[in-house]
Amino acid sequence: MYRTRFAPSPTGLLHLGHAYSAILAHDRATAAGGAFLLRIEDTDRARCRPAFEQAIYDDLHWLGLRWETPVLRQSDHLPDYEAALDRLIAMGLCYPCRCTRADIAAATAAPQEGAPHPPVYPGTCRARPMGDRQPGDAIRLDMARALALAGSALTFTESGPAHSGTHRLSDTHLPQTADDIVLSRKDIGPAYHLTVVVDDARQSITEVVRGDDLFDATPIHRLLQALLDLPTPAYHHHRLIRDATGKRLAKRDDARAISRYRAEGATPLDIRRIIGLA
Ligand code: GLU
Repeated sequence: MYRTRFAPSPTGLLHLGHAYSAILAHDRATAAGGAFLLRIEDTDRARCRPAFEQAIYDDLHWLGLRWETPVLRQSDHLPDYEAALDRLIAMGLCYPCRCTRADIAAATAAPQEGAPHPPVYPGTCRARPMGDRQPGDAIRLDMARALALAGSALTFTESGPAHSGTHRLSDTHLPQTADDIVLSRKDIGPAYHLTVVVDDARQSITEVVRGDDLFDATPIHRLLQALLDLPTPAYHHHRLIRDATGKRLAKRDDARAISRYRAEGATPLDIRRIIGLA
């Protein structure tokens, strides 16, 4: 059965970009006779607020969306992400890292036009054994080793308008940059790439619907799924909602917050019309 999810972080008010993502996922679930799930990605306790979580429920409800309950809140499942991390550590794929952003910037050549941001990690701590882990260290994935173990013949399928087709990891940016992603942050513990693959499997998601800004994260997710023996959903990355200057909407764009439109008398159908999903 088709199952998809909307996975906001309660760090601000939902805006038109979130409305697009949530409504599109909900519509695709309805069309397929499947299920729409909600997941609250609230592992960053310093930035998440209960009021924003409540606003997510209120806004989505007002938009006419319905989801399975109970809602999965990541803060209720921290030991599961730690277990996934321990598994990758036991496979010899991780190392502790004490580099700050400033260290990484200093060790990396001056940023070039079009260079990835943040810069690719230069591998300063790669030779450190896990036994050397200190409180306050981040944990990184040794990408070259992970790819060698999982094999770069892995693929994922995408049905979004910009990248539709089957993508092989060896043809994506992943093997070229081999960036050693952070699996566990020094401040909050298990990081996004790890929690997202654990939870897409836990919620039996068959298709991930999300913005095009996360397309480049998908090879990383596919790799982690292979390493952790998790199933791989299909992917659908959608266009981004932009402001009048062409910039993608950010949490600080409160002018486009769903609650603001609602307060000014808009209807859910007006929102659908504005974002082109009526
Ligand atoms: N929590 C992520 C965000 O708010 C979404 C993650 C995802 O859909 O994979 O951008």
